[in-house]
Amino acid sequence: MTTIAFIGLGNMGGGMAANLAQAGHVVRAFDLSGDAIEKAVGAGCLAARSMLDAVVGADVVVTMLPAGQHVRGIYLGGDGIIANVADGTLLIDSSTIDIDSARTVTEAAEAKGLHMVDAPVSGGVAAAAAGTLTFMVGGTDTAFGLAKPYLETMGKNIFHAGAAGNGQVAKVCNNMLLGIHMIGTCEAFALAEKLGLDAQTFYDISSTASGQNWSMTSYCPAPGPVPTAPSNNDYQPGFSAAMMLKDLRLAADAASKAKSATPLGAQAEALYALMESAGKDDLDFSGIMKLINGSL
Ligand code: NAD
Repeated sequence: MTTIAFIGLGNMGGGMAANLAQAGHVVRAFDLSGDAIEKAVGAGCLAARSMLDAVVGADVVVTMLPAGQHVRGIYLGGDGIIANVADGTLLIDSSTIDIDSARTVTEAAEAKGLHMVDAPVSGGVAAAAAGTLTFMVGGTDTAFGLAKPYLETMGKNIFHAGAAGNGQVAKVCNNMLLGIHMIGTCEAFALAEKLGLDAQTFYDISSTASGQNWSMTSYCPAPGPVPTAPSNNDYQPGFSAAMMLKDLRLAADAASKAKSATPLGAQAEALYALMESAGKDDLDFSGIMKLINGSL
């Protein structure tokens, strides 16, 4: 039986830890929030008193934290995970963080002879609970092979994206493209309506023509054509505009460091920042339709 330390039991980590416990692993759960630990215990995990209580002696450590500063803070330094786990412990960070932090932490782990992957996810809270996440994994072939069985317990699509940090590269590039085509789709539906073409008719035509894209056919930002889309539920998330803005900022930062031109990514970031300054970033990211059509 494998002992897994799971750190970060929030919206995503809570469901992921529960799936590992339900698969028969011993899951030592830790979060700064006592409520989050209590929920995890209700789902079959064991409560850890501290981060070190969870990780010392564990076979595998999984972290699901908000941002790069939290991941660096918890892995590095004398009190960190890397300095305190046993030889042979496998480290999996599934947080969405900046690429430099992911590579720095993995280098530190490898310097101690540990295997580590960055394994950010696509799919929201519902996919985390259902165990149907997509994992984009960076790390050596060996580390990927070791991590895969655990990732398969929490997800249904597991991709090896290459060396350390490449999981984060895949994540930010994908989400930058998603933000861009969501905004483009909103513009097209808003314009069609102003010009006298209703959303369903435009959808029927464009979804089988060259404007077709995922934001339109799986997540249509105009109410009506895709019944399961958040647009039919007052734009309740789903995947919030705040989360999209976080990922667009990570993409912009990475693009600047790589000297790669991302003018549309920058524009998408600026538009989602307007959602934030309007206090509407708790809406689903498709709610940017309201900014575009003037109904925010
Ligand atoms: P969340 O804020 O709900 O959960 C993060 C948890 O980490 C919190 O419970 C917090 O208390 C805990 N935490 C922070 N610092 C800690 C520490 N030092 N020790 C122990 N616990 C600590 O966030 P979330 O929605 O679960 O997202 C987690 C990660 O997944 C983020 O990087 C996010 O970008 C990414 N992500 C989220 C979604 C989504 O739909 N929510 C989708 C894909 C990816």
